[in-house]
Amino acid sequence: METKIYFDNAATTPVRKEVYEEILPYFMQYYGNASSVYTIARESKKALEKAREQVAKVLNAEPSEIYFTAGGSESDNMALKGVAEALEKKGKHIITTKIEHHAILHTCEYLEERGFEVTYLPVDEYGKISLEELKKAIRNDTILISVMFANNEIGTIQPIAEIGAIARERGIYFHTDAVQAVGHVKIDVQKMNIDLLSLSGHKLCGPKGIGAIYIRKGVNIKPLIHGGAQEKRRRAGTENIAGIVGLGKAIELAEKEMEENTKKLIYLRDKLIQGILEKIPYSKLNGHPTDRLPGNCNVSFEFIEGESMLLLLDSKGIAASSGSACTSGSLDPSHVLLAIGLPHEKAHGSLRLTLEYYNTEEEVDKVLKELPDIVSRLREMSPLYEAFLKEQK
Ligand SMILES: *Cc1c(COP(=O)(O)O)cnc(C)c1O
Repeated sequence: METKIYFDNAATTPVRKEVYEEILPYFMQYYGNASSVYTIARESKKALEKAREQVAKVLNAEPSEIYFTAGGSESDNMALKGVAEALEKKGKHIITTKIEHHAILHTCEYLEERGFEVTYLPVDEYGKISLEELKKAIRNDTILISVMFANNEIGTIQPIAEIGAIARERGIYFHTDAVQAVGHVKIDVQKMNIDLLSLSGHKLCGPKGIGAIYIRKGVNIKPLIHGGAQEKRRRAGTENIAGIVGLGKAIELAEKEMEENTKKLIYLRDKLIQGILEKIPYSKLNGHPTDRLPGNCNVSFEFIEGESMLLLLDSKGIAASSGSACTSGSLDPSHVLLAIGLPHEKAHGSLRLTLEYYNTEEEVDKVLKELPDIVSRLREMSPLYEAFLKEQK
């Protein structure tokens, strides 16, 4: 079945046409190495610096504070390992949350194996951390606080400016994984007191395998990739000019259209959420009702398995995602859904639908038409549901 409705934009997005067209000349026409001196290389250098300005502008940073990487995972690794290594003489304690992306969580586990201590802050039923608990977790040897801007599964947006203020007051570096937020939510690294920020191209309709890290001027950090002198010796390797040009264009467009797209996406998202909760009994919204990403809908259905829902949706040409176990190849359901207090069975029956600017109301209506039937069909086959109905009698 061909995918007709793509509602998995938190997993990745298609490259925008304007972005694709902007990138093309950098494969065969302007292929020069940005480090060289002749004319064709100067084109690459110019493109590199233009993209740096485009990214900086959206974050309210200086271009000199933007470093290109190979994606969100690399930026997250660089922030955590780079600060840990630079500051290990000062302290070996890091604070993060239980609901971070695995690029953060697995990097923290790696650092724990190397003698660092990590506090994983819990979240409430909506997925928010408590600022009081954050303050209590801070120790004399805390060197870094890393809290994601917006969650990739449930869409919850954290009180980033408040966290930044706490970190700055204590003189602790604050990193945020803003991969889901950039291009979708207003970000100001100055006002929000952010010291390090990760972003990725393919989550905002740019290419895959390109990302950036904002490192505030003066932050002490070691490089992750050693080699040539690119990116002011902080990230070696010949620059991925085509990817960088694509990221710059994508981020510029996302910012320019943010207000308009946010309005549209919130309308579609809320129509989807309300429609699902009204039409399907024993369903529940996961994440915060209002402090959530404009395009994120995450719901749980009792008595069924997310995986089978995805297959039936796919048979109707609808692409979505679930916090169910099987997809990830592990037995445990999503750590995010467990952290907001969902019992295993409800976490298994979750469905994530994530929309982008190009999705339409007709697509939302089509999903609202198909989904109730799919859930009913699966419940009819569910022993859990059968047992529940018997109990009701
Ligand atoms: C996708 C994602 C990442 C990883 O980014 P890549 O560019 O795929 O490496 C990190 N954090 C969050 C929150 C994400 O959604």
